[in-house]
Amino acid sequence: MTKTSAVELVVVPCRTDNYAFLVHNHDTGETALIDAPEAAPIAAALAARGWRLNDILITHHHDDHIDGVAALREGARVIGAKADAHRLPDLDLAVEDGDSVTVCGQATHVLGVSGHTVGHIAYHMPDAALVFTADSLMALGCGRLFEGTPAQMWDSMQKLRALPDDTLVCSGHEYTETNARFAASLDPDNPDLISRIKRIETARAAGTPTVPSTLTEEKRTNPFLRADVPEFKAVLGMEDASAVDVFAYTRAQKDKF
Ligand code: ZN
Ligand code: FE
Repeated sequence: MTKTSAVELVVVPCRTDNYAFLVHNHDTGETALIDAPEAAPIAAALAARGWRLNDILITHHHDDHIDGVAALREGARVIGAKADAHRLPDLDLAVEDGDSVTVCGQATHVLGVSGHTVGHIAYHMPDAALVFTADSLMALGCGRLFEGTPAQMWDSMQKLRALPDDTLVCSGHEYTETNARFAASLDPDNPDLISRIKRIETARAAGTPTVPSTLTEEKRTNPFLRADVPEFKAVLGMEDASAVDVFAYTRAQKDKF
């Protein structure tokens, strides 16, 4: 689908609303999978292209991100968070925040992005301008806080927000229309949000994924990246609140939405 440097990105819809991602290096022939919600559509996407998996990168332990690992792992190196090794499929390589591994010939940086779960990691491939965020930063949203605190997730949002603007955010679910309705309920006059929602509606009407998105558009429109932005604090009437409090309020409102 998208070609960046020598690598191609393929978005694989899985289950009802999950996404898995394939990264393929046309020079080396290597292929990596990021998350394995279920095996069949991923195996079909590989077979259609004649690709074999060299690596499987896991973001977090939830079933809808690991269920396909067992059926797909033969011949592949399975990578995941050291802190979550006890609740992930057996890892061939256990990684943590700050680590760098070579995947598909790409330097791949591991970012600790706890919040949705404690132990959730993201994978950043700077030369390909890709970040795989699963249920941390999502298109116009962020994952629900099942294990972490608002402060942890806000910290994770800031880490991801600091990546280059042209980075493609490859997140784990097609939740964007609901996220857009929520974002518009808070920030109805944001012109970037209004135009993004039109594009989202067009894409969904055509059955096209809204993932990946660019970090630029997330920075302008995603309420969970804007907890310290004066204009956003003002629309909430929280000018004097801390960013963590604004983030916590926004997340709590979304949970009730
Ligand atoms: Zn999850
Ligand atoms: Fe998920």
